[in-house]
Amino acid sequence: GLSAEKYEYQAEVSRLMDLIVNSLYSNKEVFLRELVSNASDALDKLRFLSVTEPDLLKDAADLDIRIQTDKDNGIITITDSGIGMTRQELIDCLGTIAQSGTAKFLKALKESKDAGADSNLIGQFGVGFYSAFLVSERVEVSTKSPKSDRQYVWEGEVNSSSYTIREETDPSKLIPRGTRLTLYLKRDDKGFAHPERIQRLVQNYSQFVSFPIYTWQEKGYTKEVEVDEDPVEAKKDDRDEKTEKKKKTKTVVEKYWDWELTNETQPIWLRNPKEVTTEEYNEFYKKTFNEYLEPLASSHFTTEGEVEFRSVLYVPSIAPTGKDDIVNTKTKNIRLYVKRVFISDDFDGELFPRYLSFIKGVVDSNDLPLNISREILQESRIVRIMRKRLVRKAFDMILGITMSENRDDYARFWENFGKHLKLGCIEDRENHKRIAPLLRFFSSQSEEDMISFDEYVENMKPDQKDIYYIAADSVTSAKNAPFLEKLVEKDIEVLFLVDPIDEVAIQNLKSYKEKNFVDISKEDLDLGDKNEEKEKEIKQEFGQTCEWIKKRLGDKVASVQISNRLSTSPCVLASGKFGWSANMERLMKAQTV
Ligand code: ADP
Ligand code: MG
Repeated sequence: GLSAEKYEYQAEVSRLMDLIVNSLYSNKEVFLRELVSNASDALDKLRFLSVTEPDLLKDAADLDIRIQTDKDNGIITITDSGIGMTRQELIDCLGTIAQSGTAKFLKALKESKDAGADSNLIGQFGVGFYSAFLVSERVEVSTKSPKSDRQYVWEGEVNSSSYTIREETDPSKLIPRGTRLTLYLKRDDKGFAHPERIQRLVQNYSQFVSFPIYTWQEKGYTKEVEVDEDPVEAKKDDRDEKTEKKKKTKTVVEKYWDWELTNETQPIWLRNPKEVTTEEYNEFYKKTFNEYLEPLASSHFTTEGEVEFRSVLYVPSIAPTGKDDIVNTKTKNIRLYVKRVFISDDFDGELFPRYLSFIKGVVDSNDLPLNISREILQESRIVRIMRKRLVRKAFDMILGITMSENRDDYARFWENFGKHLKLGCIEDRENHKRIAPLLRFFSSQSEEDMISFDEYVENMKPDQKDIYYIAADSVTSAKNAPFLEKLVEKDIEVLFLVDPIDEVAIQNLKSYKEKNFVDISKEDLDLGDKNEEKEKEIKQEFGQTCEWIKKRLGDKVASVQISNRLSTSPCVLASGKFGWSANMERLMKAQTV
């Protein structure tokens, strides 16, 4: 029927709207960023589909966003020629919460309350469509999907628990495709409907939208117009042929309204890296990934030759919270473009190994087909080469952080992503050489600040061949391990592996710069100080004691031996050469339970 049908919001939506309106009141202008970003998403979706279905563009070839203001009545309309919504999609998208941005917002809101953080921070999150109600009394969404031959209007009011949907019947309001939002501003917010204000907001918030955004602006041009001379004078010369020439001219300003391009549409990754500032990279990062913290590092590069692509990569300054597993496969961290057309943010797994899934960025390739699918990606030789290059660039970028003037930067990186790199030791043999220099551990000579393998090697004794480590559950227990005594006495540094994954990681590496990793808790530790004569004597003297102890302990131990590795403790339990270390045993137990 043609009459409007009424629907109730899902309970969460009502709650969310309350939250938004009550917590973002000091940051109302974010509404424009949210609505423009939705328009841009809708255009991205359409452009992507049109690659295989060019007919989709036939009703309206231009992909753009147009914002018109009516300052006298306090109305803003935002029109996009994107994918639009069907009737059902209106219900699903605008009546229920299914979406990322909003979920993230709820979480941030909760966390910021806990931490007493600035509520302005929240404004930097994607809060989505409902932010329209920050400034609007009433919102109309009139939308036409290419899947439907009808245009529908969703209508909602602030502080209401229901909305309506009806068919668009006013012929003057029909659009060929896309969505038109009409915001009827609250009395105190009508100022947003000023054309210059909207223009400034677009420039400020939507700098990186890759579709043209036009705003409706008043323009003027000057014009010379002829004016009649003083009528008295004119009368005098009535019969003079030269009358025409004596007519005077005057300059007037003609006013008119027209669309004005308001944003820069060149994507940042296509620009010359020399001309992009760090601030611009950081802004792009925050806007693209809905982040509120600056990234720790970024890298912008172009590769040429066999495979051509451009990319901007980032290391976030913080790991996503609230996830137990460190590698999340559905990160949406890498946005893949083909010839500037946004394809998907679902392909991170194809472009980066799992353990580097924390890297964020955009990748734009000229060599992939526009209708690329996961299957094609997985088989593609081009993608294999891209992946290799991306990984290499990611490591360069991380290495760059170790050289940052600010020493805290790498400490911060390590705290957030150290585990990922250790996982890389296990999963990516090919890149051991790149990962190893980035690892950090505590040691017997550096219990407060972690050291690198390079620092360890620097500090090795002249005759020391191996890199020594001990695995324990904490620095304190590593420090108190009897195995350490002899090495401490000899001033040999020992790495403390206190993270459960450390030992496995190091065992996978096997060596660093031709120096083997040696577990000091294993039975055959050779510190190069053997005195065979003396050992023989001691063995004779205590041989029987050992046999007696072995008899008493029976199967509980593999063997009882004389050792030269202790200096103050009378005895120590060591692992067999081929057995698990005590730490590993602890881990294996923990896993089988
Ligand atoms: P998000 O953008 O994070 O998905 P929003 O609350 O901003 O969350 O939007 C909710 C959903 O509404 C979008 O995912 C999209 O499906 C739909 N939507 C919003 N605006 C538009 C639009 N201009 N054109 C088409 N669909 C839209
Ligand atoms: Mg959105």
